[in-house]
Amino acid sequence: MTQSAKDNAGFNIAEQEKMNYYKQNIKMKGDPAMISDSAINQTLQTLIEGNKRFAAMKATHPNQGKERRDEVKGGQKPFAVIVGCSDSRIPPEILFDQGIGDLFVVRLAGNVVHDTALGSVEYAVDHLGVRLVVVLGHSKCGAVTAAAKGGEAHAHIGSITDMIQPAIAHAKGKSGDLIDNAIRENARLAAGIIASSGPMLGKMVHEGKIAVVPAYYDIDTGMVELL
Ligand SMILES: [Zn+2]
Repeated sequence: MTQSAKDNAGFNIAEQEKMNYYKQNIKMKGDPAMISDSAINQTLQTLIEGNKRFAAMKATHPNQGKERRDEVKGGQKPFAVIVGCSDSRIPPEILFDQGIGDLFVVRLAGNVVHDTALGSVEYAVDHLGVRLVVVLGHSKCGAVTAAAKGGEAHAHIGSITDMIQPAIAHAKGKSGDLIDNAIRENARLAAGIIASSGPMLGKMVHEGKIAVVPAYYDIDTGMVELL
């Protein structure tokens, strides 16, 4: 990991012990049945239902007209945070069939999470009252593929691939496709970083005020799967 990636992350995410903690921690959070809070569960269902409409070509494109623009003029009240990849094929509002003011979206290549991403999530949670954070990895992710291939990354791109290396390490030795496994690990690890981050989000997860859920979007089917 480069020094800049360490600085950006604010912690050493390659630390084996910490990663194990993330994995154990997140195993519970990814199972919707384990989210005991009915309001958060309902929010998750809203996203899942929107994605089902999208994947079935039955999208309703809600909240995208003038009426909605007027409604949110005075302020925003999104119901979920999506931490996703910058990949142009993964626009959260479209694939969850939502509209203006519905989702607070944080997108970086490889859906990596560092301090500025954490700050964005904290803002949504603390100032806007959002209680559900979904980390959305996706099939055929170029950032994860580049990290798996290794080699020299140009300019600042290395700061992204460095942050994905722990997921590659976790995926190695598992049966199945290395890159697809790494994509799933990467979403879980990012969710774990959010769910265990101090001083705010980890505490809120522990207190049941928010939930952080890793998920995987399949480019071929249009479906989102919870991890
Ligand atoms: Zn991607």
